[in-house]
Amino acid sequence: MIIKIPEKANQIIARLVQAGFEAYVVGGCVRDAVLGRPAADWDITTNARPEQVKALFPRTIDTGIQHGTVTVMSGKESFEVTTYRIDGEYCDGRHPSEVIFTPSLLEDLKRRDFTINAMAYNETEGLVDAFNGIEDLKKGRIRCVGEPGERFTEDGLRILRAVRFSAQLGFAIEDRTREAVKKFAPGLSRISAERIQTELVKLLVSDHPDTFRTLYDTGITAVILPEFDACMETPQNHPHHCCCVGEHLLLTVQAIERDKVLRLAALLHDIGKPGVRLRDEQGIDHFHGHGDTGAELAGGILRRLRFDNDTICRVKHLIRVHDYRQIPLTAKGVRRAVFRIGKEYFPDYLKLRRADILAQNPAMQQEKLETLKELEKIYGQILKEQSCLSLKELAVTGKDLIQAGMKPGPELGEILDKMLELVIERPECNTKEYLLSQLKI
Ligand code: ATP
Ligand code: MG
Repeated sequence: MIIKIPEKANQIIARLVQAGFEAYVVGGCVRDAVLGRPAADWDITTNARPEQVKALFPRTIDTGIQHGTVTVMSGKESFEVTTYRIDGEYCDGRHPSEVIFTPSLLEDLKRRDFTINAMAYNETEGLVDAFNGIEDLKKGRIRCVGEPGERFTEDGLRILRAVRFSAQLGFAIEDRTREAVKKFAPGLSRISAERIQTELVKLLVSDHPDTFRTLYDTGITAVILPEFDACMETPQNHPHHCCCVGEHLLLTVQAIERDKVLRLAALLHDIGKPGVRLRDEQGIDHFHGHGDTGAELAGGILRRLRFDNDTICRVKHLIRVHDYRQIPLTAKGVRRAVFRIGKEYFPDYLKLRRADILAQNPAMQQEKLETLKELEKIYGQILKEQSCLSLKELAVTGKDLIQAGMKPGPELGEILDKMLELVIERPECNTKEYLLSQLKI
């Protein structure tokens, strides 16, 4: 098998070999190259010790020197060069208590999580595939290196990584590995929220985000996202719906484009439903106020998973507004809606609405999609007309108000908001002369 290695990675390998060491590209990049997918980064593994690596290259950074990783700079690009290592005892299911360097490539490959991630390659030796990674790649199979139970007790994150790779590659999880995922899922409770977040995001922005269902089926969400389990257990007895809340969330995630905020918002948009469900005398379920309670619940979940404030704020807002449906199909009605939802959020609101509809009862989709199309059309016209829809486009600024004689202070903001409301109603009023003429000082 021949793999095309980027020139710069090859040069680093050649330099190490010339100095008498072994060196290979390893892990994810070998897997992706064999699959013909673009590799995220080309990691290099070597028997040279970190000090020896540093001595061979003029520009290096001690990225993770305690784990044996040195970053080698080549022009603007960087490559992680890691010394062959075995992980010592795992005492806490998260961190090896020590990292031991080893002269054996095979030992290094053995500590890796899955067979498809445990292959190494260089141009002289070719492919080193000690655990039948190629066969598993061909069969589309995620399989642990070694005994799955042991590997998952060493590092619980691997449980989630198994599902993440299955979502990214569209692979099945091999039976014994899957059984161990189920059995050891509770071990995820000891894994840091940051590491879990990274894997969840990779899963959600993958080609098969509905693989999220596997997290529920194997008991992973019960540990890291019990709020989702509640959705899987909440029916929606309503003509507009044809499945439980959880399945509807998965369909929505699948129907929306690949973007972190949109996929998170899709996944969580109805997370408030289990808490507000009311069944009426006809046996129909209602979920009044689920946008607001869902936004708060989602905020708590995302904070728990250590998401950044910007992501949390955007997802919460989209959830809060996702169910605004009574928008009159007139220019004024849509301008008001854009004002209420926020100009920067409106395009995403439309995308979430579309995905939400596509995840509802197909028998009732046509009309909803037509209404949405009309809404999008009017919104497009409003954009074309460059109507003022936010403070940014208002013909008057705080500075203008001060120049007109107002004192700096919170009233400035209130006046600007009032002016914006006026202009949303009557776009022709968006001139400095007119707006300032309305000031009563
Ligand atoms: P990605 O394309 O997402 O970067 P990757 O396979 O490169 O996928 P990384 O997290 O970058 O994944 O890890 C690089 C390699 O290190 C993996 O291919 C695997 O061999 C090994 N590895 C990473 N995390 C673990 C882990 N928790 N347990 C065992 N081996 C791991
Ligand atoms: Mg990687």
